[in-house]
Amino acid sequence: MQTIDQALIKLEHSGFRSSFHLTKKEQTYLEEKGMEVMRRHAEDFVRQKLAPAEPVNDGKQTPMSGHPVFKAMHGTACCCRGCLYKWYRVPLHRELTESEQLKIVNLLMAWIERNSNNPTADDTGKNLKFSK
Ligand SMILES: [Zn+2]
Repeated sequence: MQTIDQALIKLEHSGFRSSFHLTKKEQTYLEEKGMEVMRRHAEDFVRQKLAPAEPVNDGKQTPMSGHPVFKAMHGTACCCRGCLYKWYRVPLHRELTESEQLKIVNLLMAWIERNSNNPTADDTGKNLKFSK
């Protein structure tokens, strides 16, 4: 598997994946809860939504917004098993291992770190290009 930095660079070259940004509301939520809590939420969402061999509603199980981790899941192509397979060749129809879940959580947290405190994101959190 590629490193987190390699994965993030590849994602930045995808027009669709790089269109996801935190909304002001998500940013505020992130600041209030802090990164430790965010990581626990990421672990929970990955376990519930991605880890089962046949996730419920696969392809539609991750809301497009409403939580920094949801946004990160779309931004990193970790939103469903179809995308995990397409982007990272994670096999379908079997449970994710603990180490796969950990890698996904680490990638989500790296995305959140990179995308937090983005002062120019508009309130929809989408389709606004910005320079770092
Ligand atoms: Zn997906």
